[in-house]
Amino acid sequence: MAYLSTDRVEHHFHDVVIIGSGGAGMRCALQLADAGHRVAVITKVLPTRSHTVAAQGGINASLGNVVSDHWLWHMYDTVKGSDYLGDQDAIEYMCRAAPLVVKELEHFGVPFTRQADGRIYQRAFGGQMREFGEGGLAKRACAVADRTGHAILHTMYQQNLRAGTHFYQEFFALDLITDEHGCQGVMAWDIAKGEYHLFQAKAVILATGGAGRIFKVTTNAHICTGDGGALTLAAGLPMEDLEFFQFHPTGIADVGPLITEGVRGEGGYLLNSEGERFMERYAPTARDLASRDVVSRAIALEVREGRGCGPNRDYALLKLDHLGADLILSKLPNIHELALRFAGVDCTKEPIPVQPTAHYTMGGIPSNRFGEVVCRQGDDPEAPYPGLYAIGEAACTSVHGANRLGCNSLLEIIVFGRACGNQVMKRLKQHRYHPSLNRDCWRKGVERVESWLGRGDASRGGNIADIRIRMQRIMQEHFSVYRTEAVMREGVERLEALAAELPHATIADGNRIFNTELIEAMELENLMSLARTAAAGALARTETRGAHARDDFPERDDKAWLKHTLASIRDGEVRLDYKPVRMQPMTVESFPPKKRVY
Ligand SMILES: Cc1cc2nc3c(=O)[nH]c(=O)nc-3n(C[C@H](O)[C@H](O)[C@H](O)COP(=O)(O)OP(=O)(O)OC[C@H]3O[C@@H](n4cnc5c(N)ncnc54)[C@H](O)[C@@H]3O)c2cc1C
Repeated sequence: MAYLSTDRVEHHFHDVVIIGSGGAGMRCALQLADAGHRVAVITKVLPTRSHTVAAQGGINASLGNVVSDHWLWHMYDTVKGSDYLGDQDAIEYMCRAAPLVVKELEHFGVPFTRQADGRIYQRAFGGQMREFGEGGLAKRACAVADRTGHAILHTMYQQNLRAGTHFYQEFFALDLITDEHGCQGVMAWDIAKGEYHLFQAKAVILATGGAGRIFKVTTNAHICTGDGGALTLAAGLPMEDLEFFQFHPTGIADVGPLITEGVRGEGGYLLNSEGERFMERYAPTARDLASRDVVSRAIALEVREGRGCGPNRDYALLKLDHLGADLILSKLPNIHELALRFAGVDCTKEPIPVQPTAHYTMGGIPSNRFGEVVCRQGDDPEAPYPGLYAIGEAACTSVHGANRLGCNSLLEIIVFGRACGNQVMKRLKQHRYHPSLNRDCWRKGVERVESWLGRGDASRGGNIADIRIRMQRIMQEHFSVYRTEAVMREGVERLEALAAELPHATIADGNRIFNTELIEAMELENLMSLARTAAAGALARTETRGAHARDDFPERDDKAWLKHTLASIRDGEVRLDYKPVRMQPMTVESFPPKKRVY
């Protein structure tokens, strides 16, 4: 192999390298660059194409601009929404920090929608009931119309350009460089030029986003392939709670694009084929604004019982025309456009056909509220792994537990992006110089690419797309909204058999320059390891909690299962381990588990 020589690998030195330029990566980069550190951000797409750009509904903060609010009520809603699997210290930290970080975003230049009195506009979102406080719906989601992520991501990019962050765009992270002292850097591939780069850093931060593409129908962009999680698994570390995958109740039927919960926050509601507002039966108080797991299950049940709409009776209708064209076109313009384009429906006149759609990866790389990646060392399952950090959707800081509340994710990426930056600065004070690296630390990354290119054969054609769609179908059919032992067991078997085919798969394109098939092949490797760990964790968990709903175990089982799953891949096999939920908040009393009703 001609490329197995270090003089073909360009070596860069940075204080910090961040993989991912979504909201999490960029907020973290800004914190560090503003403090004068030499920060590299590696991203496989142009920075402003990261999935954060697609976020619609808003970002939560208990500003109390519309109805009174308090961070403790936000914390309670989040703990309850997580079905008590969330780590309460991290949840307290996030909810307390929310008002501060949202005001900070405003000062950075995020053009929030305004109320008549000039303050930030806030709308209602699912699962936020002020039940612990005064009762009634909370109005907590701070919005930029229905393009909140777009506004945040572009503002973050502008601020980073001002602060002097170094961007390496269209670079694909291949392998983490680790040794007995921890993580020392990352190997990457310049997609446009087809060249290798070794980034050496005193801290490496994984901010690679979610893995929605393990499913066939998803709201996630094609780039959401769980790459950071796969790099972590390859480094011998586990993934946490991947069996909890959020199905958003209102993806456009058959195709997947998201219709924000903000539609229901503004007063839209769901109907079945009999024209009934069925959520009144499932959640008498919150109705259409119950949390996402509850609404997704309700739609699935209506369909199962024959009250679905359309020729195949397989979707529900989301009615919003009664809100009036003025409100729709000013507060939900993007939804109007999406419904027209993907469903051919003018939502100012007719309802939108919707179905539960794979949306959000609650699990991820185990990390704490400082953004440090944690792993088991002896009896301690929470020992920080030196030099490695994870934030945003890629991480499982476990603020969402078994079910995420809408608008808590944009909040998470900003709060923990910032917190991680602060924590990394402490490490940089102790580690002033780059250590020397093992001589062949670049080899695994290089071999990963070369082995695919070596299999490139235009005459035979590749079969990556075929394996990917088969994997996505298995996940969709066997690990969807409702799960049972027999269906999941068959799913695990089919998935393992498919994973065994992957090392023999081929690509048609053997070129180095802008080889998108090569990138898709490596993304498929990443997706496959995440799908395998998610499936194994789901099969083992014999209870219903949050997004993990089992027909055969319909109750939550706190005695046996109030714990986090840790799934790793060793000697090619998925191994499961568990660790306790962190029930103790930082300063307030713990919220003990109780029955969840909306
Ligand atoms: C359609 C949609 C609407 C949403 N709406 C909301 C909302 O209203 N409110 C809310 O709170 N949440 C919402 N969410 C969730 C939220 O937007 C995401 O969870 C969040 O933006 C993720 O941010 P992130 O920074 O962690 O990752 P992302 O924004 O996904 O960024 C990941 C980055 O990692 C890079 N990357 C990945 N792999 C590699 C690799 N191998 N090499 C190099 N770079 C790599 C990518 O290039 C990208 O820059 C929504 C999600 C979707 C899909």
